Amino acid sequence: MNDEIAVVRNPRARRTRLSFDPVTGTARLTLPPRASAAKALTWARAQDEWIAQQRARLPDARPFVPGSVLPVDGRELTIAWCVDAPRLPRQDGATLAIGGPVEMVPRRVDAWLRRRALSLLEADTAFYAARAGVTVTGVAVGDPRGRWGSCAHHGAIRYSWRLVLAPPDVRRATAAHEVAHRVHMDHSPAFHALVATLYGRDPAPERAWLRANGAALHWFGRSAG
Ligand SMILES: [Zn+2]
Repeated sequence: MNDEIAVVRNPRARRTRLSFDPVTGTARLTLPPRASAAKALTWARAQDEWIAQQRARLPDARPFVPGSVLPVDGRELTIAWCVDAPRLPRQDGATLAIGGPVEMVPRRVDAWLRRRALSLLEADTAFYAARAGVTVTGVAVGDPRGRWGSCAHHGAIRYSWRLVLAPPDVRRATAAHEVAHRVHMDHSPAFHALVATLYGRDPAPERAWLRANGAALHWFGRSAG
């Protein structure tokens, strides 16, 4: 997070626009091709009250440190660190036990969450692919900012590892969505009908959950301030 206003010139912009990205916590000033940047910036700086309001509404940073609580696959896990415990994180009931140097905890928890996300999403994807009668050539996880999943023409699907922090239904609905792209590479009515068939119903509540809570998932693993 910072106090800067990012200035972006967009050839398709019709007017100067100030927006705020709740994922990154930055204000962005979009300018049409010939607008004066200096004038626009003066105007944007006068909106400091609005920017401050947006900033105050940002999700809390949820660093991966001892004592932090993480929602994993629908269950709250507390990071329990003890220097003598095995270094590889291990889920034990409602705790995620982890040992080794404390400064390594954030990185090890991040890696553990990505592995957990991948194994869950591989299983979800295989389930819906079998239901759809399609093949998926590979499943991977990454950390894209603007999307929860993507399906390539050659049949590989990539997801955001952060879906492991969402309710399981939200994660599964995302898998059903991406698998349906193996049949329809668009968002046509036929595509949405197939998603509903694969998932068992229209996943509107899951989409709404992501719209309302998706930005907060991007604040896990970040340090405060
Ligand atoms: Zn899609």
